[in-house]
Amino acid sequence: MSLTHKVQKADAIIQATGGDEWRRLKEICTRIRRSENQLLAEAVPMMEQCIHHCKGLCCQNIYPDEIITFADNVLVLALHPNLKPAMSAAARHESLFTSSCVFLEGGKGPCMFPPDLRPERCLTTFCADETPIRREIQEVRRAFSHLHRFLIWRQPRLIKEWVWNVLPS
Ligand code: SF4
Ligand code: SF4
Repeated sequence: MSLTHKVQKADAIIQATGGDEWRRLKEICTRIRRSENQLLAEAVPMMEQCIHHCKGLCCQNIYPDEIITFADNVLVLALHPNLKPAMSAAARHESLFTSSCVFLEGGKGPCMFPPDLRPERCLTTFCADETPIRREIQEVRRAFSHLHRFLIWRQPRLIKEWVWNVLPS
């Protein structure tokens, strides 16, 4: 699935989700955001290396589509819907070859996503010893697994509702 398709699909599922399901989705995404904040707070010493020395090597020479999932797009758009035009525009620059991440602002960075709404893989992958922050990383992954389960359960029902709405009455 291309990045453009993931952004569109994430927006479509959000638009079609209302009432209690929307409240549930917001709760799940808010839990992810909280866990990302906890991880960021504990990872400050490791991030020093990323910010001041390496300057985000792991955002370059990548296939962004392999890293950034449909669920990551749902997370960002559920809590930060005004990013959709910028995400859609950036996704159109996706290349067939390795490149800098299309979500780096101006092609250089920083990342256009808020620090506590980053894709799961971006935030839970370090190239240093992760032992001191293992618990926080696990909490982010647990929080994301709720979102994955929600989406697996929601998608077939969404298709059924769509078919039901287009059938002649
Ligand atoms: S995780 Fe490693 S490669 Fe990525 S920005 Fe930090 S130091 Fe650089
Ligand atoms: S989404 Fe952000 S953090 Fe992740 S690879 Fe792209 S620019 Fe880097």
